[in-house]
Amino acid sequence: MSNYKIETKCIQSGYKPDNGEARVLPIYQSTTFKYDSADHLGDLFDLKAPGHMYSRISNPTLSFVEEKIADMEGGVGAVLTTSGQAANMLAILNITSCGQNFVSLSSIYGGTINLFSVSLKRMGIEVRYVTPEMTDEEIDALFDENTTLVFGETIANPALNVLDIEKFANIAHKHGLPLLVDNTFATPVLCRPFEFGADIVIHSTTKYMDGHATVVGGCVVDSGKFNWDNGKFPGLCQPDESYHGVVYTKDFGEAAYITKLRVQLVRDFGVSPSAMNAFLLNLGLETLHLRMERHCENALKVAKFLESNDKISWVNYPKLESSADFDLASKYLPNGACGVISFGIKGGRSSAVKFMDSLKLAAIVVHVADARTCVLHPASTTHRQLTDEQLVDAGIGADLIRMSVGIENADDIIDDIKQALNEVDCNAN
Ligand SMILES: *Cc1c(COP(=O)(O)O)cnc(C)c1O
Repeated sequence: MSNYKIETKCIQSGYKPDNGEARVLPIYQSTTFKYDSADHLGDLFDLKAPGHMYSRISNPTLSFVEEKIADMEGGVGAVLTTSGQAANMLAILNITSCGQNFVSLSSIYGGTINLFSVSLKRMGIEVRYVTPEMTDEEIDALFDENTTLVFGETIANPALNVLDIEKFANIAHKHGLPLLVDNTFATPVLCRPFEFGADIVIHSTTKYMDGHATVVGGCVVDSGKFNWDNGKFPGLCQPDESYHGVVYTKDFGEAAYITKLRVQLVRDFGVSPSAMNAFLLNLGLETLHLRMERHCENALKVAKFLESNDKISWVNYPKLESSADFDLASKYLPNGACGVISFGIKGGRSSAVKFMDSLKLAAIVVHVADARTCVLHPASTTHRQLTDEQLVDAGIGADLIRMSVGIENADDIIDDIKQALNEVDCNAN
């Protein structure tokens, strides 16, 4: 890990050209790599020598971007994947098998809930959700001898709850388990979960890290700090016959988890992104620190404007003093809580739809966290099959609008909201 500040790491970590080499990260558009002897290649297959052999497992362009993200998070290694979904899947499957279970915060991304409650369930892995009203005793009661990890999101998408990382790291560690944190919305610019005791960090790089809505991707980062040799993780501590008896904790030390994830899971599931996509992600990372600053500044201005407008019934943004998570945000997100806010419009579903349709600058898209301001109305799109009652149960009111505040001029964004609100007659229904 370098000692530079996060802003410098965004630009300088990872690829460092030698004398006369390309200044900018090259795209190694090659599936395979040449070696002078069969013995050398044999050593690669036994994981005895470092090096690339086949781009399903590793590729130089990807490696440089992985190095950069690991350095930004303060970890010992990282693996890029084709999507955030793939990253979360591998992060869990790396230490969890059929018949085991894990504990997750309940307010997390909808796609992750599907992964946990549908696909992992079909593989014989059970998720046990921690709901906000649970006492410490009730949370403790979720664990048994087959529990493998605890999972949460730094800033939950779309509920925007802030994870009490220290608290859940302590709970996980008390049970001899790692805390996995999906740090997508915060990015390492706003929060580095390892500094608060998290053990593994996951990203959907599709969001702010890329930042331009060009590439779907994901990443798993290993802090290198968790002690896997406690009897609960045989996959990391017993010989892997597919590599002639390699023992990850013994042969790779603090990089045991991330090495196993690459050479076993990425090898077998085939979720490596292309070199071109890693190159585009790296371009995004180079300006991440600048963009996050503006996203946060703009979002707070928009949230404050909305809070003061009488057609708006409620606003949720962790940096508003009215937010239930304001204190957690002060601790974990001192410099801002990303660009995503949610709010409700008086008059419910019909007002929300009229408002959305009246926006001119902000676009209606199924995306968050890119440079352009965008909005989504879950009740009429992603959750449109639910009745108003079911929506309330899911924590999503019919009036809820999720706005991803971009990096345009804040006054232009607010003017757009103002003119759209003028079109809404909150008493019409
Ligand atoms: C979008 C998202 C994911 C899934 O990532 P994809 O890149 O879309 O597969 C996972 N977690 C969070 C918090 C997200 O916002």
